[in-house]
This record gives sequence, C-alpha cells and structure tokens, in this order.
Amino acid sequence: SGGTDEAARSDSALTDAEVQRLREDFPILQTQVNGHPLAYLDSGATSQRPLAVLDAERDFASTLNAAVHRGAHTLAAEATEVFEDARATVARFVGADDGEIVWTSNATEALNLIAYSISNAASGRGGAAAERFRLREGDEIVTTEMEHHANLIPWQELAARTGATLRVIPLDDDGALRLDVAAEIIGPRTRLIAVTHVSNVLGVINPVSTVVSLAREVGALVVLDACQSAPHLPLDVRALDVDFAVLSGHKMLGPTGIGALYGRRELLEAMPPFLTGGSMITTVTTTEAEYLPPPQRFEAGTQRVSQAVALAAAIDYLTAVGMPRIAAHEAAFGRRLVDGLAAIDGVRVLGAGIDLPRVGLASFDVAGIHSHDVGQFLDDRGIAVRVGHHCAQPLHRRLGIISSTRASTYLYTTEAEVDAVIDGVQAAIDFFR
Ligand code: PLP
Repeated sequence: SGGTDEAARSDSALTDAEVQRLREDFPILQTQVNGHPLAYLDSGATSQRPLAVLDAERDFASTLNAAVHRGAHTLAAEATEVFEDARATVARFVGADDGEIVWTSNATEALNLIAYSISNAASGRGGAAAERFRLREGDEIVTTEMEHHANLIPWQELAARTGATLRVIPLDDDGALRLDVAAEIIGPRTRLIAVTHVSNVLGVINPVSTVVSLAREVGALVVLDACQSAPHLPLDVRALDVDFAVLSGHKMLGPTGIGALYGRRELLEAMPPFLTGGSMITTVTTTEAEYLPPPQRFEAGTQRVSQAVALAAAIDYLTAVGMPRIAAHEAAFGRRLVDGLAAIDGVRVLGAGIDLPRVGLASFDVAGIHSHDVGQFLDDRGIAVRVGHHCAQPLHRRLGIISSTRASTYLYTTEAEVDAVIDGVQAAIDFFR
C-alpha cells in the first residue's frame, strides 16, 4: 500500500509540513523585512534559491573553475563535463535532446537569438539551408496582446528589419486570447507565431495546442515563451509540438545570468548564428569562418559555467519535489488568491473571468489606490509583491489600466502568506479610504 500512497501523492498538492521543511532550504526566507518575517510573493519576477543551488555555484568555483571546450588540462575537461551534464539536465526537464538546448543569459536573449538568426537568414546568411527562415515583405509574424515585452519587441524589430508584417492576436474583455480571431489571422502568409505559455500578468495557462494546430495547418514555426510555465508545471516540448521554447533560470530557483533556448534539432542545424566570435567556429581565415553545428554555433564567447551548473542543481531540486506536485500546489494557491482578492469590494483581479487552469499568480487593481501605494503598504508588513505594468503594457492598456499589483507564489509559499496578501489588501483599502 506504500506504492498506492506514493501514487496518490505524486500529483497532490504539497502539505503544510512539506512546505515548512522545504523553506528551511532557502536561507533568504528566514529574513525579516520591516520588523516582519519576509513573505515573498514575487517569484514571478525572480525566485529564491535553495542551498543546493548556492552550493553548486560555489562548489564549481571552488573546485572546477575553468573555461569549457578549450584547453587540454584536467580542470577544463572536468568543467566541460559538468557543463554538458547541466545541458542534459535541462534537456531532460523539458523533454528535448541534449543537442537541442542552447545556453543563453536569459529568456530575453533566447528570443532575440531566434529573431536575429532569422533576420541574418533574411539578409542571405546561412546558405540554402536557411531558406525556410527567410522572411520577405508580405510574410507575417504573429504574436499576442498579452505578451511580456521580451516576446513582443524582438518581433517588432524583426518585422522592421525584414519588411515582414507583425500581426497581433487580440484579447477579449476578460483578457483571454481571442482564438476565433487567431484562426482568421493565422494563414498562408504566417511564418512564425510567438506566444506565451503562461501569462506573467494573468497567471492562466494558454491553450497552446490550439495555436500549434493553427500553425501546423499553414506550416508556421511556433515559439513558446515558457518563462512562467517551466518553473511551475511539467513541460514537454515534444508533447506540445512547439519548434522553439525559451526559459529563464532565475525564475526556476536558479541563478541570474543563465537561460536556455530549446530548438528542434533540424531547425537549429539550418539557422545562421546570432552572436559570433570565439568557441562557435571550426576554421577561420581573415575573410571568413566556418561554424560549428548547434548548440555551439549559438554559444559565442566564454560561457556562464557556474550558472549553468547551478541551474541544473535547481532542476534537480524541482524534480525531487516533483513538478506535478508543484503544479497542484500552485493551482490551489492561484485559486485561493484569485477568489480571496476578488471577494474584496473594490478589487478587480485581472483575468478572473477566464476559464482556464492557472498557476499561483494574480494581478489586481484596487479602485482609487495606485498600485505603488498598495505595494508599499504590503511591504510595511514584510510582504513582497510586484507593482507596475510587469513588462506587459499592451495587456494593461487592453484592460483599461496602466498598472497593477501582482502576487505570485512558488513551492515555498505557505497558505498563511497567501492569506496575508488578501488581508493586507483589505487593510490597505481600509487605510487609504
Ligand atoms: N517572458 C515572460 C512571460 C516573463 O515573465 C519574463 C520575465 O519577467 C520574460 C519573458 C523575460 O525574462 P528575462 O527577463 O529573465 O529574460
């Protein structure tokens, strides 16, 4: 029956006792802020790091530090091995092969890598192999009105560089993607569709399979922004059938300065490089260079090895807890946040009316009180939330506001912290009115 218990637990939410035990792994969660224990509800911006991640970075620097893929000495060889093992860990985590993971500094760089590689193809680089990436006037790039600026501006710029047209899937009044309009926008001219898996403002999990089906009908590439999904739910790029996916290490218990791009192998093989220089070449003359196959073709310059190793430690930590259990924990807290906040008179939770599964994140507007005042009031109680437009100005504009307050949870969030946010918002209203 132990087996049955384990099976029952494998996708159930974390218990309070388990969360308390996990919290001991995160030194920063013991911090006091303004005389209160820190309640960190800003993991959507950046997550906190467990000792296993802090130790991994320090251990690498203390015992193995060397540049990878260079030099004949033992340390360089060992550093290369752990660097490549870390890549394999990311690949397994998202359901890809090792050669399909490219290290980047964050998701923003990964998205720019795709966009610049495509415009390099458009200007003739990459030879015949890159033909399918060549955008021309009349071609269309599609994105959505709910994107983080990181998954919008690179496509605006790509359109400007190539003469392609950028088209945007609009949102309905609740903030949900208008899939009916998407079906009209996506057509024979569509070459690439960039969409977020989970909105960093609404917390809803988008119906990616519908967008992928529309893309497949017209032979367009799909870029998935997995920044807010990879940390919070099981992610399988093959099951989702996307062509590219991007993620940021610092949002999934890892350090800053490391992110990853997943690209389908045959696509990466055909793409010209973005950044050029050392470590990505085979032969170089003063007039030309031959490039290594992927992933090295896209990894110019000295790599962020300690960060990659620490990100692998973060993934090991998440995997040991269990992504299905983290997803269940977050779904429960997302619901609790949305319901608790929406029940307060004068609070409008963005996307509350959207009938989709969600992660533990809610953004809200408090009538008559600026989001900065709400954030400041909560901070006085030791509660850390995000305020502003969360790098999603078009989404806020569509919903008729310029800023909101966002609370976001993670595996170390307690029910008491979620309730402290809800109580804090009620107290802010009582104070300011
Ligand atoms: N996409 C989404 C949905 C995000 O939430 C973020 C970060 O806030 C990004 C992209 C950009 O991530 P980074 O700033 O780590 O590159």
